[in-house]
Amino acid sequence: MTNPRGRFGDHGGQYIPETLMNAVIELEEAYDRFKDDPDFKAELRALLNGYANRPSLLYFAERMTEDLGGAKIYLKREDLNHTGAHKINNALGQALLAKRMGKTRLIAETGAGQHGVATATVAALMGMECHVYMGVEDMERQALNVYRMRLMGTEVHGVDSGTGTLKDAVSECMREWTKRIADTHYLLGSCMGPHPFPTIVRDFQAFIGQEIADQCIEREGRLPDYVVACVGGGSNAIGSFHHFIDHPEVKLIGCEAAGRGIDTFETAATLNTGSLGIFHGMKSYFCQDEYGQIAPVYSISAGLDYPGIGPEHAWLHDTGRAQYVAITDDEAVDAFEYLSRAEGIIPAIESAHALAHVMKIAPDLPRDQIIVVTLSGRGDKDCAAMARYRGEDINE
Ligand SMILES: *Cc1c(COP(=O)(O)O)cnc(C)c1O
Repeated sequence: MTNPRGRFGDHGGQYIPETLMNAVIELEEAYDRFKDDPDFKAELRALLNGYANRPSLLYFAERMTEDLGGAKIYLKREDLNHTGAHKINNALGQALLAKRMGKTRLIAETGAGQHGVATATVAALMGMECHVYMGVEDMERQALNVYRMRLMGTEVHGVDSGTGTLKDAVSECMREWTKRIADTHYLLGSCMGPHPFPTIVRDFQAFIGQEIADQCIEREGRLPDYVVACVGGGSNAIGSFHHFIDHPEVKLIGCEAAGRGIDTFETAATLNTGSLGIFHGMKSYFCQDEYGQIAPVYSISAGLDYPGIGPEHAWLHDTGRAQYVAITDDEAVDAFEYLSRAEGIIPAIESAHALAHVMKIAPDLPRDQIIVVTLSGRGDKDCAAMARYRGEDINE
């Protein structure tokens, strides 16, 4: 539910320089025009199904369910999408919208490289020019993803301002966009930033929750009792939750990265440790110091270490419609290893944060309860880092 000017309660809005105003207004008008257009919807559906491999499976994790001895656990397998995560859903939607708007050039930010790879992928598919901005620190840590993007014809630009990580890449992208709006679309990677991005990204990810509902009804004859997902900016979570917001019997749980713990400074748990602020064009909760300076954040998971959260999550938190819990590195690594052994499925370390919470709550729930946890991505990219966490050095 979006109120006028993209407010979710008091959150969201458009806190941007005048130079970007025309760009976001143009985007808002285009989105309003195309979102219910039958041709646009049919073309997006064909790409999601025929290229990205939707609908993704709803997999009954029988061994995990038996082992934990409580609620029935289903995995929503976004890891089986082309490029191995949910990011492709949004990238396809926005690239198609950009084409309809007559744009020929895409720019995007990336942290771990997952969104950069998804954007480079759709740019190659649609024959568009593509530039990805990435912190120099992240470029070094994620060299393989830099190679992937370049292989697909994208130019990767290092950003060395600030801490040389994701938040700086977002800032740089916004600056670049102001310089070249006429032919360029900023393909933002999560449900954050100025309106209309939080709404657009949510809608392009809402296929996840719609499919969860359809698949759960088909298998179980009813909706799930719990939907659980990890939260960085919040796109896979809001995509999983959206369909259920008006079904109060379905409990919604977002899992933030606590890093080394919410009582330390090495954390990225925005709702559990942050406060209200304005950054990257939106009002929401942020990890910041008492003067409003954005704090450096930390998580073992590169996909979750963003110092803010999308405005719709801030609102779901305020209203109590969704609950947000913090999961430490240790708990996530345990869950990463657990699912690999229990089900033969290696989850992304981001997704392992959601699994870790399910492992906590499932044993105490009755056997007729149903939990769906969104597996936002696959874990191949994390294997070297997880081995290192356990003191083993493997060749990447
Ligand atoms: C990017 C990413 C996330 C975090 O982003 P959200 O916008 O919060 O979904 C989570 N999981 C995976 C696999 C990712 O690549």
